[in-house]
Amino acid sequence: MKEIVLYYLWQQQAFNRENLQTIDGQTVVVQSGGILNTNAGPDFSVARLYIDNLEWHGSVEIHVKASDWRRHRHHQDSAYERVILHVVWEHDQDVYRSDGTMVPTLELKSRVNSSILFRIQSLLENVQPSIPCANLVNQVPEIVKIAQVERVAIQRMERKANEILELLKSKKGDWQGTAYHCLLRSFGFKTNQAGMEQLTQALPLRWVRKWYGNSDQLTDIFLHQAALSQYSANEKMLVIPPELENKQLNPSVWRYSRIRPTSFPHVRIKQLAILLKQWQADLSWLLQIQPVEYYMQQFCTEATNLGARSIDTIIINTVVPLLTAHGLFHRDDTYQQHAWLCLKEIKAEDNKVIRKYAGLNFPGSSALDTQGTLELYQNYCTKKQCLSCSIGTAVLKKQPLFVS
Ligand code: SF4
Repeated sequence: MKEIVLYYLWQQQAFNRENLQTIDGQTVVVQSGGILNTNAGPDFSVARLYIDNLEWHGSVEIHVKASDWRRHRHHQDSAYERVILHVVWEHDQDVYRSDGTMVPTLELKSRVNSSILFRIQSLLENVQPSIPCANLVNQVPEIVKIAQVERVAIQRMERKANEILELLKSKKGDWQGTAYHCLLRSFGFKTNQAGMEQLTQALPLRWVRKWYGNSDQLTDIFLHQAALSQYSANEKMLVIPPELENKQLNPSVWRYSRIRPTSFPHVRIKQLAILLKQWQADLSWLLQIQPVEYYMQQFCTEATNLGARSIDTIIINTVVPLLTAHGLFHRDDTYQQHAWLCLKEIKAEDNKVIRKYAGLNFPGSSALDTQGTLELYQNYCTKKQCLSCSIGTAVLKKQPLFVS
């Protein structure tokens, strides 16, 4: 038995609840099991229950064995004084508060059907390493998959937005500098993100603003700072300001394996320089609510020849997280809603992970679906978080949950 399984059983109240009693014979009626606490302290907070007809509000602590209470030193931690119920798989020891009163304890061992335990175990210990429910997910209604994918797509948007808010802090509230950083990182795509991020230090936006009037020079200074001057047309004419001289990158930062020549870093940097000149180094539009076609048009020039897929990827990784972060910062959810709509309108992405889920009939009609699928893969399936996933819950509900 693992604690994570007990969390699931308690959260879902997936045990026989008839004539519930603590180990010393007090009746228990659960009104609400509470909210799972992922921080320090008892496992569930704001639970509400009746013990011997007396109403209690407080925390619930879960353990495999009752003796884990002392083993985890909860008897010395005042945060556990407000525990109203100790839920254990096996009661092997009485547990007391510092005032000498016994913590009411509920034992689950005899109240759970072995078939639910078997199913949980099969799900968590499935040999399929990346999608443990792959063999069972066909039993899950479409609507459950759609809801879970959309839920985690929103989590992904917020996670990325919070990273941007951290970046904004480090840039002392400079939104355009933050947008510049996000934009360059997106132009690194998967392989050269780190190099592009370093380039934001080697050539800050304020210097781009000084050079944008001359496209050739802007391209040359970018290539020089990126240590890619061999691709520069007029490098000899370039006068590097002393402030930038020692900031040139180490050429080893760039990666070339498994990318097409059209995505090599010097190609991406040249495209970026052309666009920055076109925008007159003003990135405020990246933080404004505009139709998704408007964002696409901003990147769509003959001179850069950026492909439609690349433009979609840049919008997904730059515009959407920036709008979400802007909305969170200003507590204005119209930005988040617009970012969500943008993802809905952008075509579904296509990669190895997405194809795996498509084969299991997961939704995949827009970038919202594929962003949700990627999040599900990275933060749920590969981490075996099936008991926190509504698809996992639906799979497990296909069996009776408690002994009758
Ligand atoms: S986390 Fe959800 S979708 Fe992923 S394998 Fe588990 S149950 Fe399936």
